Amino acid sequence: MTFPDKTPRGWILLLMLLFLNACDIQQAQLHQQQFLLFGTLVDISLWSDDKQKTENAIAQITTDLEKMHNEWHAWHDSPLTRLNKALAAGQPGTVPPSMIPLLQKSIALSNASDGLFNPAIGRLINLWGFQQDDAPSNTPPDAARIQDLTTAQPKMQDLVLAHDQLTSRNPNVQLDFGAIAKGYAVDLAIEKLRALGIHNAIINAGGNLRAIGKHGDRPWRIGIRNPRGPGVLASIEARGDESMLTSGDYERFFEYQGKRYHHIIDPRTGYPARGFTSVTVIYPDAATADAASTALFVAGPQHWRDIAKKMGLQYIMIVDDKGHVTMTPAMAERVRFELNPAPNFSIVALP
Ligand code: ADP
Ligand code: MG
Repeated sequence: MTFPDKTPRGWILLLMLLFLNACDIQQAQLHQQQFLLFGTLVDISLWSDDKQKTENAIAQITTDLEKMHNEWHAWHDSPLTRLNKALAAGQPGTVPPSMIPLLQKSIALSNASDGLFNPAIGRLINLWGFQQDDAPSNTPPDAARIQDLTTAQPKMQDLVLAHDQLTSRNPNVQLDFGAIAKGYAVDLAIEKLRALGIHNAIINAGGNLRAIGKHGDRPWRIGIRNPRGPGVLASIEARGDESMLTSGDYERFFEYQGKRYHHIIDPRTGYPARGFTSVTVIYPDAATADAASTALFVAGPQHWRDIAKKMGLQYIMIVDDKGHVTMTPAMAERVRFELNPAPNFSIVALP
């Protein structure tokens, strides 16, 4: 570097050089990290100009998410499986601090969905073979056992929480947070990012995501997976802070005699819910959107509009088992189909 001459112009130049150096100006860019948790691929995308802050934030939320995964695990030895053992024995069980708000939110959302989102049906989910690391068996369970667990009617309303002690009036209640945990975990991780000064990010747990801020000077564009076949069915621009969650029959399933048996169980029948292949919901918080997408999937073609209304939803996209797409008017305004040719669709208003 040649030293500037001693004219006023030269001094200004020198001061500018010193200032720029002190700022250590970095380019804003996309930082991404992926790992496996909650039985799915978790993808963190941050838009930031501060590498140090970004790396620290990613490390912290990774640790947080791992902790949630371990505490709420429905079949590995965990605080949740210990709690479930106590409930089955008719004993009070201890709810760890991280699980209390999750439990309370789950009770409220189960009520709001008329019990179609029902995290108390852990026994049924286990019977169907969806509480194991290995692929489920390829035959449906015995009809009489399904019937027994269905008529036992385990419900979130059977639970009584006093401080951190949980009891169940029904020993058939076994908690499984599979339909809400990813959304709730994403909410907590976004909250943590904000506390760490990161305001532009997406946290995506296997197609269950919350987006905040922007990708540089443009909005984040988020994709809805094609439930049958590869690629993206449609995409949407996120508006500031929103969550988009999808429940699909393609995540965990087996085929038996030409029929698909998947992991979203109708608590009324004890069998996998029929009629839809995927349900996508956009809502401010991811926990509600997660529970809601499961509830609408279970509600099926006859009842989804009533449940959507009850849960206060506005943005919904459903793919049925014939590949036909149904959207609410608010959703239709925002969707861009990415498949060519675009699928047949209809727009249906809520009651
Ligand atoms: P995904 O896990 O594919 O995002 P969901 O959010 O719909 O889909 O969650 C499905 C999981 O939720 C199942 O694997 C099971 O653990 C649990 N589950 C299944 N049926 C129900 C139901 N009716 N209510 C609450 N939880 C359910
Ligand atoms: Mg869900």
